[in-house]
Amino acid sequence: MSLETSQAQALRALPKMQRLLESDGAAALGARYGRGRLVSALREVLEVERQEILARGGRTAGAEALLEAAGDRLERGLSLKRVINAAGVVLHTNLGRAPLPRAAVEAVAEAAGYCALEYDLESGRRGRRGAGAEALLAERLGAEEGLVVNNAAAAVLLALSALAGGGEVIVSRGELVEIGGGFRIPDVIAQGGARLVEVGATNRTRIEDYRAAVTDQTRVLLKVHPSNYRMVGFTCEAALAELSDLARERNLLLVHDVGAGALVDLARFGLPGEASPKASLEAGADLVAFSGDKLLGGPQAGLIAGRAAALAPLRRHPLARALRPDKMTLAALEAVLDLYADEERAVAEIPVLRQFAQTPQSLRTRGERLQALLAGKGLACGLETSTARVGGGAAPGVELESVALVLPPEGSAAAALARALRCGDPAVAARLVREQVRLDLFAVADEDLEPLADAVVGALPRPDAGPR
Ligand SMILES: *Cc1c(COP(=O)(O)O)cnc(C)c1O
Repeated sequence: MSLETSQAQALRALPKMQRLLESDGAAALGARYGRGRLVSALREVLEVERQEILARGGRTAGAEALLEAAGDRLERGLSLKRVINAAGVVLHTNLGRAPLPRAAVEAVAEAAGYCALEYDLESGRRGRRGAGAEALLAERLGAEEGLVVNNAAAAVLLALSALAGGGEVIVSRGELVEIGGGFRIPDVIAQGGARLVEVGATNRTRIEDYRAAVTDQTRVLLKVHPSNYRMVGFTCEAALAELSDLARERNLLLVHDVGAGALVDLARFGLPGEASPKASLEAGADLVAFSGDKLLGGPQAGLIAGRAAALAPLRRHPLARALRPDKMTLAALEAVLDLYADEERAVAEIPVLRQFAQTPQSLRTRGERLQALLAGKGLACGLETSTARVGGGAAPGVELESVALVLPPEGSAAAALARALRCGDPAVAARLVREQVRLDLFAVADEDLEPLADAVVGALPRPDAGPR
C-alpha cells in the first residue's frame, strides 16, 4: 500500500469530535474543566495527531489515547509554561524571543500592582505613560525624542499612517519584504492609507530612482532593513546619507525600519551586518523603528526615535492609543535600556548579549557539565559540535558555533522523546536532527543545567514501564 493511501486511511480513521465527546472519559473531563475547554483541548490533540500522520504516516491513535492526551493538556493548566530552550535558536519567536534580564524581571514584578504609570509622584498630577522609557531610548540613540508602541510592526504602521496617510511612500523594490506572520511592507503602507511607489529593480536601486519618483504627493522615503534575507551578487542600494540629502532637498521625511536594531556593535561577537538605529539617525534618518525583543534583548515593543517634529504627528494620531504598550512592557524596557548605560554591564546581564559573548570553551564546559550530570543519573550521551542561529528574523545565514548533547534513542523513539521533553515540567524544546534528539546548549543558561538533566531523565521511557 502506498504511503499516501495509508495516510489517507489513518486520517479517515481518526475519531470524530462528536464521538470523542460521547466516549466514557469525556463526561468526567467535561465536568472538571468545562465543556468548552475540553472541546478546545480535543481539537488541539486531533490537530497534532493529523500533523503526525501527515509527517510520519502510521496508525491512528484510538479515542481513549486521544482523550488521555486532552486530559494531560488540561491538567498542565495555564498555557505560558516556562521552556528550556535547547533548540539552538537565540531569538526563538515561538518561545517568546529575548529572555529578560533579572533587572527587567524585577521591574515587571514591581509594576504589576499599582505603579506610577501615568502619575507624577512629585506633584500628584497626571504624568505621561512611557515617559521614563522614552527618555532613556532617546538618550541611548542620541535622538531628540523616543516613542514606544506595542511592537515594531505597529511602529511602522503608526509612522506611515501619521506621516504619509493620503500621500505617497517611496520604497525600493529590493525592500518590499515580508517579515513573517503575514507582515508585508506593501500591506502596511496600504493599511496606513498611503500609496506605495516602488522604485528600482529587485537587486539594484540607486538614489536617482528615488529622485525621479518624487512628486508633490510624496511624503516619506522608507528604507527597510533586509532582516531575514540577504542579497548578494550584482546589487546596489542608495545610502542613507544620500536618501537624507534627497529628503532635505524635497522636504520629505526619511523613515528607516531597522528591524532587529542592536545598541552595541555586534561585530565584536563576530556577528556582521546588523543595522544600528543610532548609526541610521547619525546618517540622517528622521525616524528609526526597531524591535524591543530582538537584538536589544528586551520585551516585545516597537521603539521609534528621531526628530521631535517628525514624532509629534505619531503621538497625536488616533492609532497611537490603540498601539500603546502596557505597564509591564514599559517597566521591562526601561530596566533594559538602563543597563545599556554601561556597555560591559549590558553584555554581562542581558541574556541575548551574554549568549553572543560566549566562547567555544565556555560552551564546551557547559556541555561537559550536562554530560556529567546525565552520566550521574545513568545516562551516557555524546557531545558534538553544533550550529546555533540568531533567529527572530535577524542575521540570516549567520552560524553560531555551539555544542549539543545527543540523546540515545533513535528513529521514531526520538520523536516520542522530543514530545515527552516538550510536555515535561519544565518543558524542553530540543532539536530533532537526523532522527536523533539533540540538546543545543547555546541558549541554555548554566543555572538551567540541573533542571534540564532532570527533565531529560523524566522524559526517557523507563525500561520497566513499557512503551509510553
Ligand atoms: C522583525 C521586523 C519587524 C517587526 O517587528 P516586531 O517587533 O516583530 O513587530 C518589522 N520590520 C523589520 C525589518 C523586522 O525585521
